[in-house]
Amino acid sequence: MIDEAEILKTLEKVNYPGFSRNIVSFGLIKSVSIEGADVTIKIELATKDPSIPQSIHNEAQEILSTIKGIGRIKIDFDIKNPPEPATGVDANKASLPGVKKIIAVASGKGGVGKSTVAANLALALSLSEGKPSVGLCDCDLYGPSIPLMFGQEEARPMATDQNEIIPIESHGIKIMSMGFLLDDNSPVIVRGPLATRYTQQFLKGCLWGELDYLILDLPPGTGDIQLTIVQSVAVDGAVIVTTPQEMALIDARKASSMFSKVNVPIIGIVENMSYFLCPSDGEKYAIFGEGGGEKESSRLGVPLIGQIPIEMQTREAGDTGNPVALGDSETAKEFSDIAKNVISELS
Ligand code: ADP
Repeated sequence: MIDEAEILKTLEKVNYPGFSRNIVSFGLIKSVSIEGADVTIKIELATKDPSIPQSIHNEAQEILSTIKGIGRIKIDFDIKNPPEPATGVDANKASLPGVKKIIAVASGKGGVGKSTVAANLALALSLSEGKPSVGLCDCDLYGPSIPLMFGQEEARPMATDQNEIIPIESHGIKIMSMGFLLDDNSPVIVRGPLATRYTQQFLKGCLWGELDYLILDLPPGTGDIQLTIVQSVAVDGAVIVTTPQEMALIDARKASSMFSKVNVPIIGIVENMSYFLCPSDGEKYAIFGEGGGEKESSRLGVPLIGQIPIEMQTREAGDTGNPVALGDSETAKEFSDIAKNVISELS
């Protein structure tokens, strides 16, 4: 006897193309019907790329046919259009009304400085010509670090009568983070569907107002939160953060291939911890190796939009609520250049 549980268990071996999560845990399976030995599966997708259903179809067929005694396998797709970017005449279709550009900051690995880059990019954008309005949504539910970087660990957002969350404002940036909803000691236990719901609420249930740029600080890797984001809002481009060493680059490659699978353009690569400028001898030391970011950017055909040194002031500034981009150091100038690069790549 074939049963639904066995079918779903088997389909858990099929990953969404480019992601490390499977199609079952993403909630893409809408129904499984079984008649005798024959099975019909309905899958819902939001994509414009025909290779995605094709690849899921082939893999699912192959894996399901290994089930003993299975008969005919039919896989039906319900394909919806992904959200449209908020550009030009399509502005009405913006998935976040009032938000002009949505930029994801991503990395393959944790600890490479993704949140540091997201926070400083948000500030550098807000300080750039014309003083654009900027929001920063910390989508890293499991390790939210944005409240600390903005000195807002104690802040708790209010809600409107319509139950919209009012973001916390700091250094002129509108911020939302899971960190605002947690006590210091509480473990983050949201997984699967609950993580999806939180992410959607942060994006769509927040009173972002009119924003020129909304920066999304993604969790590291290629999991379900990333997919939820690209399926819920129209992301205009992604910035990939990496350190120069091969280990980080391999994962950065996975992150960028994930974005190309869902048709989000890569704006560029930021190489963090590129070198250490020794205060005592003035020499540059390539602690994590040299040229990794450049090699990767030419491999992907996207620009290397910045190189940030590893230095005490960047770490200290991040830990004390005044990110380095607010000052006038060389690193602050580098972030300002990164912001200019992002603006020009997006326009
Ligand atoms: P991720 O978001 O990739 O996990 P974070 O931005 O949280 O990484 O950075 C991890 C740690 O490294 C933090 O303590 C941060 O202050 C520090 N850090 C990040 N970039 C730099 C840098 N360029 N120089 C010094 N410390 C850095």
